[in-house]
Amino acid sequence: MSIFTKIIDGEIPCYKVAEDNNFIAFLDINPNAKGHTLVVPKKEENKLFDLSKEEYLSLMDFSYRVAKALEKAVDCKRVCMSVIGLEVPHVHVHLVPTNAMADMQFTKKEKLTNEEFVALANKISENF
Ligand code: AMP
Repeated sequence: MSIFTKIIDGEIPCYKVAEDNNFIAFLDINPNAKGHTLVVPKKEENKLFDLSKEEYLSLMDFSYRVAKALEKAVDCKRVCMSVIGLEVPHVHVHLVPTNAMADMQFTKKEKLTNEEFVALANKISENF
């Protein structure tokens, strides 16, 4: 069972941003930038292109809606998207409020307090 399935099942806490029957979005715990969000299908699948085309398109649709909320909630040049999965083998879309290329290189990390995570998740969620 992946760590994201544990989050989906409520066994591990997260800073939730949005949810429906098939997807959940929550803040990345080690963010590249403030508002870095992960969009995760509830069905545990390893790689993005293991999803059926329908599941893939649904994930993109949900991610689009989360990105729109992020654009409203977090000041940035643009929201960028990446799918990696080398650390957690459960499909997830990274949505990163980006100001510079360094924000998308997954090396420069931002430290946030619990209160900052909670406030950010609430603000994004209100705009979803
Ligand atoms: P990757 O699998 O390379 O796309 O990276 C996995 C991402 O998941 C990293 O950015 C981690 O910071 C993030 N991550 C790992 N565990 C958690 C967690 N419990 N809550 C939120 N984000 C997590």
